[in-house]
Amino acid sequence: MIYPSDIIEEIRSGNDIVSVISEYITLKQKGSNYFGLCPFHNEHTPSFSVSADKQLYHCFGCGESGNVFGFVMAMENLDFPESVKFLARRAGISLPEPQYSREIAQQAHLKERLYALHKDAGRFFYSCLSTPDGQTAVSYMDKRQIDPRIRKKFGLGYAPKGRGSLYAHLKKKGYSDREITASGLCFPAKNGGGFIDKFYNRLMFPIFDLRMNLCGFGGRSLDGKEPKYLNSPETPIFSKSRILYGLNFAKAERKDELILVEGYMDMISLYQAGFRNTAATLGTAFNTEHTKVLKRITSKIVLLYDSDEAGTKAALRAIPILTKEGFSVKAVQVPDGKDPDEFKKQHGSAEFAKLLVSADNHISFQIEILKRKYNLENPEHKMLFLKEAADLIANLESSMEAEIYVNEAAKATGVSPESFFAEVKKIKAEKDKKARQDLRKKQIRNYNSTTPAEYKAQSKGVLKAAGELLCMCAADKKIYEIVSRYLEPSDFPNEALAELADIIYTKKSQNENIFPGELLNSFTEPELQRQAAAVFANEPAFDSHEQKEKALTEEIKQLKSLSLKRKLRSVDSIEALQEINSALKALETLSIDLQNS
Ligand SMILES: [Zn+2]
Repeated sequence: MIYPSDIIEEIRSGNDIVSVISEYITLKQKGSNYFGLCPFHNEHTPSFSVSADKQLYHCFGCGESGNVFGFVMAMENLDFPESVKFLARRAGISLPEPQYSREIAQQAHLKERLYALHKDAGRFFYSCLSTPDGQTAVSYMDKRQIDPRIRKKFGLGYAPKGRGSLYAHLKKKGYSDREITASGLCFPAKNGGGFIDKFYNRLMFPIFDLRMNLCGFGGRSLDGKEPKYLNSPETPIFSKSRILYGLNFAKAERKDELILVEGYMDMISLYQAGFRNTAATLGTAFNTEHTKVLKRITSKIVLLYDSDEAGTKAALRAIPILTKEGFSVKAVQVPDGKDPDEFKKQHGSAEFAKLLVSADNHISFQIEILKRKYNLENPEHKMLFLKEAADLIANLESSMEAEIYVNEAAKATGVSPESFFAEVKKIKAEKDKKARQDLRKKQIRNYNSTTPAEYKAQSKGVLKAAGELLCMCAADKKIYEIVSRYLEPSDFPNEALAELADIIYTKKSQNENIFPGELLNSFTEPELQRQAAAVFANEPAFDSHEQKEKALTEEIKQLKSLSLKRKLRSVDSIEALQEINSALKALETLSIDLQNS
């Protein structure tokens, strides 16, 4: 633990979860709980619940759960120590110096230094705009018609020709060679001859993370040198696959929709034209990591990629990644093979707005691309087109939606919508069958697995049983006494639940009260916290005493036998084997009696 646990608890109890979450989403009270639209998945009817009593949140749709720390970690993209700082500030509680381990302290210190270093580098590049060499950057920005206010807002700058000027500046500012090397902005020369700047003679784009820390740079070549765009390398504070250029500005707009473009200049140009909800990938393919960042900000994406082959490919790649994560996706291409910036300049902002409004649902977009790919006069091509289109449409869940695109594709080829729809249904049935088979295979694999990671992925039933048992233990000392007689913490099916069992057992044995919101302070990893918090979201309810005894009996049996069978796979002696077998046998006759235990 980085801060003393009583401070963590003071901060947690100083931040009522209902009031914190209400700052992000609208909550409506229903009994002792509050409900709202889940900020972590897309939905139209609220399944996101917040319990004021337990100080927990839980989404019945996507399963996200946690206490107030978990919530701000997820919403603000923070790690645990950062969420502690964030909430301490909110509650006006001053933090003591954190008790870091030496290694963590060094890492945290390096990060702080790197942020400061990047800020100094950004200022340096900006100041270089007014040097004689910097004029090339200025005239480039003039040519691209970047408004002076926008230049300033985005902190654009110039990396000078001399390949040691940034290094000299950073040294003067007091940064060590180790820090400068870690920033990736300079590297040691091969022949031991000092340090060399990574960026030179380039227009510099500072890159900010969502907390407005300058964390990296992109540089555009000004003398035709390749590559045209160069980015900071991966560093402790910068990762290309997790950061989108301009997202910090787009986030501030709090718009429902985000326009995703491919480059720095497209992003800036759209922003300048009033489309401020725009962000760009940093010269890297769109990937699942990006969706994690985007989820916190929007559920609707408009892809606006170049209409050349590379841009089309990139858009077609991004669509399934986004739809799989539940985003609603539209796509549009700039006509005549132009990039968005060129188009806007030539046709003006109004035409550009029209273009955006005309963005198609991603299926229509993909069908359009298919139409271009094939010559629909040619019967063979026509078949190929229909096959690919059917495959695309078969991915849709709603058959009403599918029908719309069936008509669209049928019209383009002149086949009857009915016969084409029949084909789509056939493909869909095959896909569904394959999905079911894959799921079954996965379940069998999990069951047979011995590795902790796979064991963790046990079926829902086991997790539910474990969760219910722990929930009952937390609420009832007597049940704790019974359950702990049969189940060790390590008998629980995954890391989070085993740790939770350990904490609950310890507290119960010391007659301490259990308060879910507080208990979760021990879970500083978001995924572990989610799993542990979910336990308290599904409190079991029983109609009768007998039903409760039966549930206890079955659940203890289920967990213990799984755990024993797992041990069975790694026994190394006959004695151990016999012992496990007789334990398994004894389980068969187990029957919990609440009165006489
Ligand atoms: Zn959800």
